[in-house]
Amino acid sequence: MSHLSLYRKFRPETFEGIVRQEHVVKILTSQVEKKAVSHAYLFTGPRGTGKTTIARIFARAVNCLSPVNGSPCGECAVCRALKEGSLDITEIDAASNNGVGEMRELREKVQYPPVTGQYKVYIIDEVHMLTDSAFNALLKTLEEPPAHVIFILATTEPQKIPATILSRCMRLDFKLIPTADLEKHLTGILRQLHKEFEPEAVAAIARAGAGSDRDMLSIAEACIVYSEKLTYPAVTAVLGAADLHETANLVRAMLLSDMPTAISVTERILGEGKSVGVLLKDVLDLLGSVTVAKNCKTAETLLALPKDLFDVVKGIADEAEGRAILRATEVLIKTENELRFASSPRIALEAAILRVSYPEGDSNPDALLVRIATLEKKLAALESAPARPAPAPQPAPAYAPFEQPPAPPKAEPSAPPAREVPEDTNPASQEADPFESYDFPTEEPVFAEAYFSDEPPKSAPQKAAPPPREEKPKQSETKNEEPMPEERPSAPISGDAEVVYAKFMRELRKTAKSGVLFTMCSDLAVSFEGETLILCTDSESIFSILGREIHQKTIGETLARLGIASFEVRLAGASVPKRDPVAELKKNFKDYPIEIK
Ligand SMILES: [Zn+2]
Repeated sequence: MSHLSLYRKFRPETFEGIVRQEHVVKILTSQVEKKAVSHAYLFTGPRGTGKTTIARIFARAVNCLSPVNGSPCGECAVCRALKEGSLDITEIDAASNNGVGEMRELREKVQYPPVTGQYKVYIIDEVHMLTDSAFNALLKTLEEPPAHVIFILATTEPQKIPATILSRCMRLDFKLIPTADLEKHLTGILRQLHKEFEPEAVAAIARAGAGSDRDMLSIAEACIVYSEKLTYPAVTAVLGAADLHETANLVRAMLLSDMPTAISVTERILGEGKSVGVLLKDVLDLLGSVTVAKNCKTAETLLALPKDLFDVVKGIADEAEGRAILRATEVLIKTENELRFASSPRIALEAAILRVSYPEGDSNPDALLVRIATLEKKLAALESAPARPAPAPQPAPAYAPFEQPPAPPKAEPSAPPAREVPEDTNPASQEADPFESYDFPTEEPVFAEAYFSDEPPKSAPQKAAPPPREEKPKQSETKNEEPMPEERPSAPISGDAEVVYAKFMRELRKTAKSGVLFTMCSDLAVSFEGETLILCTDSESIFSILGREIHQKTIGETLARLGIASFEVRLAGASVPKRDPVAELKKNFKDYPIEIK
């Protein structure tokens, strides 16, 4: 049996077999029935949505002697002759025949009358690939077409078609095919093939088709070859979609602001070899499912996930805030766009996940500290990268967590369950900026190789429990006066703290090399007390993290460059007014148009 792809094998012969695109079909069939066809059409739309298929059916329908509901009858003399192959229907692939020569030749050929039926039909696929001069030659033909000629131009990129051509065509826009229709189509085909299948497997293939019938059928074909019965596990194996339960854990952690878990699950998934792009896509797909589960009563039918996975998705949807789901989706879609320019896609993804799972609630600060320390430690492996020398070792900073507020002590003051990687307490690697080689993705690609190196930790692993709490006097703020006295400029900036803060964030973005620090600093209230800049947060976690020596140093240096010699980080200072984050965002990025609804 000769091999024929599913898409070709099940290519419909009549308009009835077309999946969706009713609006296009309706216009074309009514033109056939009224015998009022145009001489030039432009079919636009994403690939695999049926443009060429419909063009072929239409080409036979206009010639058919007795069309049925606007479709070719398939039995009349003309239909039979056209099936055999006729010079009356010509398909041209503009991708390979894009020169002016071909179009001039075409102009001569169209003059000859049709052999079989009433019309000669020219289907020019990928028409946007024509050169300018070829378009001009084609235009001449379109301006005075012989009565027996019909042109069907098909393209995925209508914006590349000259206006002069557009104005002479009847334009029909093809739409992406809804998943439900793809599912129905595939189910029909599998039944014809007498292939056993699970509905969940079909739904997964239809989703992977992403609106394109052709893409879906080629995936289906691979799955059919892969296993006797079409099962959900077989499909996920073919698609390379790893265990969605693990992805679900990640999504859940992100939406519930459980940053430690989010980061550790991300590390685990990527550690198993999944690529950043695939993970991001899986996460976005799952977020889409969560959105549906949150908002649609018929979610179970719509999503057609395996029961256990649906229960997980529904559970996440019930737990998570709708706003959190939306925000996560927005951040990650933005990241998806940025990935192709990122020198280190992994860092871009991790920064995005950090941003999404940003702990605004009452997450355990110790747990957060440990997780961030783990992340920093990973990055610290870079410090040994030859590009930048490490600073001289200094005594290990004795960092003690800040006193908890009057609330009763938490049940698990240290060592959160999620933590698996031992803390590196080597003085050298702690003191060296763990983000030394980190750059934001849009900047110079200094990072990628070093980040992925398998450099082992330099010191013996040690228990990472925070040092025991010392009985210090109650303290809700930490004082860090003049961190960089030697750089004190003669004329410090004073006045508008907000302006300084905006400058500070821009500077930090350029130089801090730390996605974590930048994120932590992005929602602080600011004010001046004399010449001291007060940075205030109402989050204990952020307060604790910013209190770390390494971050204090970076903040101090960054402010020093702006002429601020003294600063202080405070926790929930009642004296400092709360900022308006939206106004801030606009201010910080005033060079960019931002629209917030
Ligand atoms: Zn016919």
